[in-house]
Amino acid sequence: MAFTPGTTALRGRILTFLRAPEAPGDRDSYTYIADGLVVVSDGRITAVGEAAALLSTLPVGMSVEHYPDSLILPGFIDTHIHFPQTQVIASYGAQLLDWLEKYTFIAEQRYADHAHAARNARFFLDELARNGTTSAVVYGSVHPGSVQALFHEAEGRGVGLVAGKVMMDRNAPTALTDTAQTSYDHSKALIGAWHGVGRQRYAVTPRFAITSTPGQLEAAGALLREHPGVYMQTHLSENLEEIREVARLYPKARDYLDVYDRFGLLGDRSLFGHCIHLSEREMARMHETASIAVFCPTSNLFIGSGLFDHAALENPARPVRMALATDVGGGTSYSLLQTAGEGYKVLQLRGQSWPALAAFDLMTRGNAAALGLSDDIGQIAPGRYADLVVLDPSSTPAMAHRREAIQGDLEEELFLLMTLGDDRAVRATYIQGRRAHDRDSVVI
Ligand SMILES: [Zn+2]
Repeated sequence: MAFTPGTTALRGRILTFLRAPEAPGDRDSYTYIADGLVVVSDGRITAVGEAAALLSTLPVGMSVEHYPDSLILPGFIDTHIHFPQTQVIASYGAQLLDWLEKYTFIAEQRYADHAHAARNARFFLDELARNGTTSAVVYGSVHPGSVQALFHEAEGRGVGLVAGKVMMDRNAPTALTDTAQTSYDHSKALIGAWHGVGRQRYAVTPRFAITSTPGQLEAAGALLREHPGVYMQTHLSENLEEIREVARLYPKARDYLDVYDRFGLLGDRSLFGHCIHLSEREMARMHETASIAVFCPTSNLFIGSGLFDHAALENPARPVRMALATDVGGGTSYSLLQTAGEGYKVLQLRGQSWPALAAFDLMTRGNAAALGLSDDIGQIAPGRYADLVVLDPSSTPAMAHRREAIQGDLEEELFLLMTLGDDRAVRATYIQGRRAHDRDSVVI
């Protein structure tokens, strides 16, 4: 069934970021309208401003969806999540390589079954909407059908995804491996079928250096060269044992990043999940190539991988571009609010800090910029898709109680949302101006 974009207006407290905040209190980094209106026509935002000024300009009969006291933000963007791991989340007691073998490689085998993939694509997209996530960068399983099912479901809902089938030709169960040639062929066919079709975009997806032979990484590089505009996603420097194994498998590489570099996998559309244990040389090379380091705090804590060094990556002499993500099922929550809250704790353990403004900017505008999609998503501004999240800062008794003491301070309210908020704080989610989730009308 084809998706029909919405034509509507939303009224509430509007918050949208204009650039990365430099410090707490950076008032010029965002626009906040205490009683604002977002006007949507055919799925795109046509106007945003004070409700008092805009209400009288609305076409006769246009509905206004009013969320008094709620915050309306651009929908959250998750830049690293595994679609076949919805039943791996919350698996006990293993670090990366064991965790892959014991849980993930078992669950991913079921995605050979198209009906299983289709059913889980529906669950996956429902869950994103429940958490206020309106776009995501997604790993499929090794089976091209898994990505086909996901793109099909997303396009039917008007959701823009970047996704790709995992390429994996060694160090995994036979049922989950392809070959350099078949991974090339299947990825190429998916690019032809889906990249740039509607809101869908493709990411060439070698899982990581351990599960790809040099021949397969060569194939990944060829796909990128032959299809300008497609993305690349993989994992980098997540776990110390993983790093040692990569050095053993690729003895000629200078370091982990160099493995990918040798095959032409770096660039401004290349997303590297984790980037915890990078050397100075690796960070400098990521800067040079405009590659993106994806911070996945709940996953890094849960799998015991280590603490992301935000300050080192941010070094003004060679800043590395960054994005934020859940990494479900290594990650423990679909909520970018909870993800940001755990990110704050990771940085605390590093002796660093993360102001709420910076976290909310990254979940929205910052992640869109990392993907080069700022013209379409990440801000509430005319021309952008009306992908929106409506947040209720008093969604639990503890939040309502704490909020009484904040007395309307916006930054404190955002910090409350990222520290105590979760899916319950998502009052509603809109995709292209259509309500995709309504917390208060869900029948249980
Ligand atoms: Zn991952």
